[in-house]
Amino acid sequence: MTQRTITPRAELHTHLGAAVDPVIMWTIAHRQGIRLPVKDYWAFEDMITMSSNEKNKGVYEMDRDYYHLTELIQSSPEAIEEAVHSVIGGGYRKCNLVLQELRFSPMKRNRTGERDLDFIILAALWGMRRAMVEYPQVTAGLLICLDRTFTPAQNAITLEKAIRYHADGIVGIDVAGPDHHAFSMAAHAPLFARAREAGLGLTVHAGETGNLEELQYVVRTVRPQRIGHGLAAARDKKLLKEIAKQGITLELCPTSNLRNNILKSVDELRTIIRTFLDNSVRITINTDGPEMYRTSVVKEEEFLLAEGIMTRQEIEQCTNWAFEGTFIPRLPVTPRARAKRGSR
Ligand SMILES: [Zn+2]
Repeated sequence: MTQRTITPRAELHTHLGAAVDPVIMWTIAHRQGIRLPVKDYWAFEDMITMSSNEKNKGVYEMDRDYYHLTELIQSSPEAIEEAVHSVIGGGYRKCNLVLQELRFSPMKRNRTGERDLDFIILAALWGMRRAMVEYPQVTAGLLICLDRTFTPAQNAITLEKAIRYHADGIVGIDVAGPDHHAFSMAAHAPLFARAREAGLGLTVHAGETGNLEELQYVVRTVRPQRIGHGLAAARDKKLLKEIAKQGITLELCPTSNLRNNILKSVDELRTIIRTFLDNSVRITINTDGPEMYRTSVVKEEEFLLAEGIMTRQEIEQCTNWAFEGTFIPRLPVTPRARAKRGSR
């Protein structure tokens, strides 16, 4: 089977810091004269990827041990342009991703203020546009991540940048980063309202690490169109109903959750996914970062099928939900709509 015979797919949840091929990261790092902690390529690849027998203690360790280095390497306009370009082209070649949303935090790529945020964002957009010219079958959009480790004032600056470049391809915002004692979702409510007013899509990492109370707040008060992970909802029947009723799409990342010790076993993953489907919650299948976790949307699907967690038909449903849940305007026709119209 050639890649071209794979059904068109969409991915909504990928972090740039975990998505670039290590070979490209290696070259970008050297071109910029970044002093790497290792001198051997294979040691470097091991540093920024995880094999199937590796596990993080949690999201904090993953951020500290992996993202710190990849974000440093991507911290210049030249680097981010190349990084974004490679991910969008690579997704199409490897998995027939004809729709891709890619997210990153510009403030984690400006070398603590040395680089200009506008140029980082513009370069990312230029990388995306170049990829879309080279691969005209692909529609892509970038999400700007606010971060739990930043203050509301810092996140407000980032949000204003996202709004400024909305017309150029910044399609939404996200809240990412490891849990932080000072972070308050409520303190960010005005920012979410402003993003919505400006027409940006809104997704929030919530319910990944088990904080059900925060997830309840997000569903009931923030009311985003999508939620990153949302696993904790499986423990709350009432909340599941609300998520389904509001039509919130959950962005699931199975391998990432297992590697980051969020889920202790495949059985736990199975229970959660079945609970979501039984309660008519819209879910999508994502990687969180294909290169870091050595996976892809297609591999995630194969894993879910092989473990008997989902049927082929349910996976196709998830693909359609991904096309329907995107923040990218003026979408190409979804597979479902295409089938209805009887066209190819
Ligand atoms: Zn994520």
